[in-house]
Amino acid sequence: YIKMNNIVKKYQGAYREVLHNFDLSIAKGEFIVIVGPSGSGKSTLLEIICGFEAPTSGTIEIDGTVVNEVLPKNRNVSMVFQDYALFPHMTVCENIAFGMKIRKVDKSTIDKKVRWAAEILQLDKYLKVKPSKLSGGQRQRVALARAMVREPKLFLMDEPLSSLDSKLRYETCHEILNLHNKINATTIYVTHDQVEALSLADRIVVLNDGVIQQNDVPIEVYENPANLFVAKFIGRPQ
Ligand code: ATP
Ligand code: MG
Repeated sequence: YIKMNNIVKKYQGAYREVLHNFDLSIAKGEFIVIVGPSGSGKSTLLEIICGFEAPTSGTIEIDGTVVNEVLPKNRNVSMVFQDYALFPHMTVCENIAFGMKIRKVDKSTIDKKVRWAAEILQLDKYLKVKPSKLSGGQRQRVALARAMVREPKLFLMDEPLSSLDSKLRYETCHEILNLHNKINATTIYVTHDQVEALSLADRIVVLNDGVIQQNDVPIEVYENPANLFVAKFIGRPQ
């Protein structure tokens, strides 16, 4: 469903590449988890897929079409950012509904979807509240809900649970899997958390310095790390 061919990314003015001749193919409906240390290029990868950053060279295909020249809004991709930018002057409800309003979805459908997402993410009590009154974790769940209601074909999540406490994180993780099983969107999920990666992924991609270290099912990454880096980063103790 997604094919990245020989992607190179070098930010303007930077002296080194963030992604080096990067190749990755993802099948329709797959849940891919990208793990890697800070600065390894995970967020950059997602930004290139959704179109907020252009690759320096290489092509990216979504559903058989090269999308290098396609604007982000026409890629049918929904992204949850690491820093979950919400509209501060709107309530939680309005934030979640915003994208649907713009696309002129009818009001009863909007209401239904907002309630559906709010229930899954335990935001029911906060629908009338402004984001500034919420905790970091609650804001992140609003960002998640806002992306969910678009029911995208391709769902990108950049550490969506990183500011949640462990209990909520575990529950939300579970809901993300439920959601995935329901809508079956092709999903690319970035995390620092090895346990999250091992429990969510159909396939794990371990990234270091813009180079894939291993690309395999969780059990293989865990049991048979490809190299010392993977072993230290995610593998079981040898
Ligand atoms: P983290 O786990 O901390 O979120 P990451 O794996 O998501 O890290 P990226 O944000 O993709 O890493 O950054 C990869 C490299 O690219 C870093 O060295 C970063 O400094 C650099 N970088 C990221 N965004 C920009 C930008 N807009 N302009 C210049 N350099 C950038
Ligand atoms: Mg990042």
